[in-house]
Amino acid sequence: MTTNAMTNEVLLIDETANLKNYDEAVANFDWKEIEKTFTWYQTGKVNMVYEAIDRHVNNGKADQTALFFTDGVRDEAYTYQDIQKLSSQFANGLRSYGVEKGDRVFIFMPRTPELYISLLGIIRMGAIAGPLFEAFMEEAVKDRLSDSGAVAVVTTPALLERIPVDELPELKHVILVGGEETTADNQVLYQDLMSKSDEYTIEWVDRETGMLLHYTSGSTGKPKGVLQVHDAMIHQYLAGKWTYDLREGDVYWCTADPGWVTGTSAGMWSPWLNGVTAVLRGGRFKAEEWFQTLEKYGVNVWFSAPTALRMIMAAGNELPKKYDLSKLRHILSAGEPLNPEVVRWGLEVLNHRIHDNWWMTETGSCICANFRCNPIRPGSMGKPLPGITLSIVDDQGNELPANRMGNLAIKPKWPAMVRAIWNNQEKYDQYFETGWFVTGDSAYKDEDGYFWFEGRVDDVINTSGERVGPFEVESKLVEHPAVAEAGVIGVPDPVRGEVIKAFITLREGFVDSDELKEEIRSFVKTRLAAHAAPRMIEVRETIPKTRSGKIMRRVLKAWELGLPTGDLSTMED
Ligand code: ATP
Ligand code: MG
Repeated sequence: MTTNAMTNEVLLIDETANLKNYDEAVANFDWKEIEKTFTWYQTGKVNMVYEAIDRHVNNGKADQTALFFTDGVRDEAYTYQDIQKLSSQFANGLRSYGVEKGDRVFIFMPRTPELYISLLGIIRMGAIAGPLFEAFMEEAVKDRLSDSGAVAVVTTPALLERIPVDELPELKHVILVGGEETTADNQVLYQDLMSKSDEYTIEWVDRETGMLLHYTSGSTGKPKGVLQVHDAMIHQYLAGKWTYDLREGDVYWCTADPGWVTGTSAGMWSPWLNGVTAVLRGGRFKAEEWFQTLEKYGVNVWFSAPTALRMIMAAGNELPKKYDLSKLRHILSAGEPLNPEVVRWGLEVLNHRIHDNWWMTETGSCICANFRCNPIRPGSMGKPLPGITLSIVDDQGNELPANRMGNLAIKPKWPAMVRAIWNNQEKYDQYFETGWFVTGDSAYKDEDGYFWFEGRVDDVINTSGERVGPFEVESKLVEHPAVAEAGVIGVPDPVRGEVIKAFITLREGFVDSDELKEEIRSFVKTRLAAHAAPRMIEVRETIPKTRSGKIMRRVLKAWELGLPTGDLSTMED
């Protein structure tokens, strides 16, 4: 691995990578070729769960581990055959209670194997699964269950109190995981449901049949119900193969919760469609425990998010040295822009490349990535996945030339693309008004085809006639040794249009003072640009974030301006 001082590029020659030549792959790409991977290409019979699980059972991998689970208390391993059997039982049980194809069945519980088994069981029988993050409070749960008209919910006795069953007329069944007794007629114990029938079952569906309903992170407003269909498998398989570079025999760990798209798409489908072993870790983030998990399972490929990587960085450079990470090949990051500082830390301290990749709930899988075969340009989200047409367009949908800032947009349609915004056709149509799927993110493309994220369109700051992306300022701020995290917004100003305000948290050992803030200000001024240096800096204990780890700039802005904060259902405690 070498770094090119001129371009800042991190080069790596890896003859064993699945994708060896990016330009060639783009030139020769055909989704039809990828489809040949799946059994339905021969039989015409479609179901995601068949391709992710049963296909491997039928192709000599019955006894291979599909899932390792640890949470500090339980420590378990499941083969592909185990998962097939358990998810069949769950599907049979659901059917016995009258749940039908197309029904919405939600899952509201901690990260455990039962969450995975339920999710697979639901999709196996042709219903639509709606995974919810366990930390949601009552309002958030109610909103989603009522918006989707869910007929059943899988939960735990402890979380049951956050489900206002009486206010959800369509909800008929509550499946309790980990309970010993039921307390109402509509309740059923997981173990009883599982004991209905052991028989193998699979419901054949269309490629366009709905499979998952994921609510978005709520960074920019009220979360939207994004419907994904079985066809998404083509895309999720390819992302696993080319972006995550999963190989035969790999152990792969994606830290995302299945309540977010990354947790299912990159956490379950991509690894299982590629027939590798997935790791699931329950419990909360702790740097030591995460390193232990990497060591314990000999993780080869690790997928996490910038917020977690920044927290691990903040835990110090000595910590990683205590663990055997020799099996690790590379790291992936998505969900938020990856600061160049984090990429450099990955190289220096972990001796690994961190591959940033960009996508959203609505895209269903990875769209743009730093591939293993391409040099990484720190701060850039890389190049489009072959088969995807990604561009920068103006508000009318005209493509813009290189180095011009504009709307990041994707040419419809691609396999994992959102097929409906639940109960909101108008919102769905808005995305496609210009003939492109307009993402709501602002970015530019350089002469070599690398995409650079600027910020959410709504977050871009206009100050003294200059356009400033919050991400660039935040990245410069976290390069300063005192700054752990930063959130940057524009505050209306009569003279400059907007001025930049930064909210920061400090690393251990630093205390808030006017001198420190002035030093940080001039650090950004001399290293980025005078107009990009924050005029105001506020030190805080925490920065408001979604539970998926995204900085909520709209909340910072509302606080700053004394405006209503809007939907906070997805905000961290
Ligand atoms: P909502 O749509 O409800 O406001 P959200 O957009 O945060 O919430 P997600 O679909 O979970 O919900 O997140 C997608 C967004 O995350 C993208 O639009 C982008 O702004 C950001 N994002 C994801 N990956 C990256 C990345 N690698 N670099 C920069 N931004 C990213
Ligand atoms: Mg969004």
